[in-house]
Amino acid sequence: MARNAPGKHWRKGMTLMEVVRMFATEEAAEQWFIETRWPNGIACPQCGSLNIRKVENRKPMPYRCRDCRKHFSVKTGTVMQGSNLGLQTWALAFYLLATGLKGTSSMKLHRDLGVTQKTAWHLAHRIRETWRDEEAGDFENAVEVDEGYFGGKAKNKHAWKRKQEEGRGPVNKTAVVGMKERGTGRVRAKVVENTDGRTLKGFIQENVEDGTKVYTDTATTYSGVPNREAVSHSTGEYVREQAHTNGMESFWSMMKRGYIGVYHKMSPKHLDRYVKEFEGRHNQRPLDTIEQMQVMVFLAEDKRLRYKDLIRENGLSSTARPAK
Ligand SMILES: [Zn+2]
Repeated sequence: MARNAPGKHWRKGMTLMEVVRMFATEEAAEQWFIETRWPNGIACPQCGSLNIRKVENRKPMPYRCRDCRKHFSVKTGTVMQGSNLGLQTWALAFYLLATGLKGTSSMKLHRDLGVTQKTAWHLAHRIRETWRDEEAGDFENAVEVDEGYFGGKAKNKHAWKRKQEEGRGPVNKTAVVGMKERGTGRVRAKVVENTDGRTLKGFIQENVEDGTKVYTDTATTYSGVPNREAVSHSTGEYVREQAHTNGMESFWSMMKRGYIGVYHKMSPKHLDRYVKEFEGRHNQRPLDTIEQMQVMVFLAEDKRLRYKDLIRENGLSSTARPAK
């Protein structure tokens, strides 16, 4: 086995008591966000200048850039921008999302943080944005590729027609294709329109370096993938030493436990957000809990998710009760 797995042999968790002590006051939480976001000193989110003045009694925008004259706070230019929630609440929400391996429902956030369920729903989706990563993978070790199916009703089409078009997989579900790199354990996954050969091969080409060994099941849709070795699920073939997709399957089973136990449903429109949540959390697993939270703050920059955009995407009116 490869010895280049990242991280430590053990990782340091964080108890709820430690979290509460660490973020005991709004000031302590703000200080943590400032030091995490700007380890080299407070920088203007607008122009990057370090020439910053702290303006006393000017909440919620306590800083002013001497170069571009903009006022800002530690939330400005991140997923937290425009939020009225305190930074203590944000820190606890980051903790809950980072440690909730099967996902975190808006009902739980609503109860644990004492915010309305609507606020909690928006909050969770904003934190999920931190895991949204558009970059392609760069996997070099052998990868396992497999698909998962979630959901949901077929969209506007008769099942027989969809079946004809898609060729493979349950007709009434949304397909997600994923790969896991051996050795590092990193996962890359995304929602796909269909699971035809072109789509699957495109996903593989996008995310692996040339010459990478690819393990799949025996589906013909994978035929023609370079360096591919297939293993059959259906014929009861024993798992050959290397030729299996067990790693990717365990990722799907974690996500399915979240789907069944926590979220109950993931709308096809939002499924990609949940896929990225499970992917992002999975890829952070080698880190200590506090490091995971630091990475999330780092990734929170230059991403925004406004409530009105979120509900528009979901096809809800602003008064509708959000899903879990
Ligand atoms: Zn500036």
